Amino acid sequence: MFNKKTIADIDLKGKKVLVRVDYNVPIKEGKVSDDTRIKAAMPTVKYMLDKGAALILCSHLGRPKEGPDPQFSMKPVAEHLSKLLGKPVAFAEDCIGPVAEKAAKELKPGDVLVLENTRFHKEETKNNEEMSRQLASLAEMFVNDAFGSAHRAHSSTEGVAHILPAVAGFLMEKEIQYLGGAIADPKRPFVAILGGAKISDKIGVIRNLLTKADSVLIGGGMANTFFKAQGYPVGDSLVEDEALDTARELLQVSTDKLRLPVDVVIADSMDPTAAIKTMSMGPVPDGWRILDVGPETVASFAKVIANAGTVVWNGPMGVFEDPRFNQGTFGLAKAVAESNATSIIGGGDSVSAVNKAGLADKITHISTGGGASLEMLEGLALPGVAALLDK
Ligand code: AMP
Repeated sequence: MFNKKTIADIDLKGKKVLVRVDYNVPIKEGKVSDDTRIKAAMPTVKYMLDKGAALILCSHLGRPKEGPDPQFSMKPVAEHLSKLLGKPVAFAEDCIGPVAEKAAKELKPGDVLVLENTRFHKEETKNNEEMSRQLASLAEMFVNDAFGSAHRAHSSTEGVAHILPAVAGFLMEKEIQYLGGAIADPKRPFVAILGGAKISDKIGVIRNLLTKADSVLIGGGMANTFFKAQGYPVGDSLVEDEALDTARELLQVSTDKLRLPVDVVIADSMDPTAAIKTMSMGPVPDGWRILDVGPETVASFAKVIANAGTVVWNGPMGVFEDPRFNQGTFGLAKAVAESNATSIIGGGDSVSAVNKAGLADKITHISTGGGASLEMLEGLALPGVAALLDK
């Protein structure tokens, strides 16, 4: 199924290995405030250290605009990793050039070095060949375990993989086995749940899933554009008029698969004092807006989910950050957790909803990559993976 070489296929003893990880984690007051992504790549890091490799870990963090910016430094990540590993972790204040070269040269088997943010060089996101060469010069081989960045062809994700022998880490392998497996060979019925703010971000995903899934359940802001396409006034709801034609077309071609909310929670503003009510789907009164799916929708979607063999979910059912509009998202999270289906959740918001609901351990696979998981659901090849050695 996963046709790329992994770290299990190569000899790591005594090797210096450049590892692209996704350590793009939130930093608060100079400390890592959520280490989910660091922990997710731990099996790869530990396995390679056990096998006697010396590791040079690199990642981007945030979106620094103009070169080095202390708020996006990887230093707190190196410190946090040191705590998790229970051993010293060296840090180089640049990811390429003399500082990185010196630090990499000093490494012995079992040592770990974290490089400074790859995006402190603007060449990174341009997939600049010279930058890839400089990164490659630090090591003898390259491992990509950064699933969350695999949809980007950047110097440290794709470029470098053309210069050094390059294989996948265990997190990359696991992510692709679950997401790719769901798309290529799902246990049926295969149910996809899509929500979030906008339909335009996910049109490719909806199209691809309509060809692969048995049911596509739509909620969140993106349902509003479908409602408007059906001819309902939607009041002040978030709508994308430029996507109306697409919504009409999708409704026409897939009446049997596409399911929209049957009831919605509406409010007359977003203020703390807003009036809120639940209505069966129909014309939304002027001045009101849809902010969540209603209980009947949760119940009917839950029935479809209970019967599923595979469930893939991306995007919340409503403005779940506000407790007044989180019942739809939490209700679906519960339905997914209670089902016996292979369940796969991707996208920061759906993942955070499942975490907040305390249901994360009931989900088969929680993806660490929002954009990358969406591109997989869209059926696109990920450049960071395509560049790795075939099995
Ligand atoms: P996305 O990044 O596309 O997955 O969208 C996530 C965002 O969609 C969250 O911040 C939600 O608050 C928002 N959202 C979900 N449902 C609605 C809705 N009915 N109206 C406006 N925003 C929504």
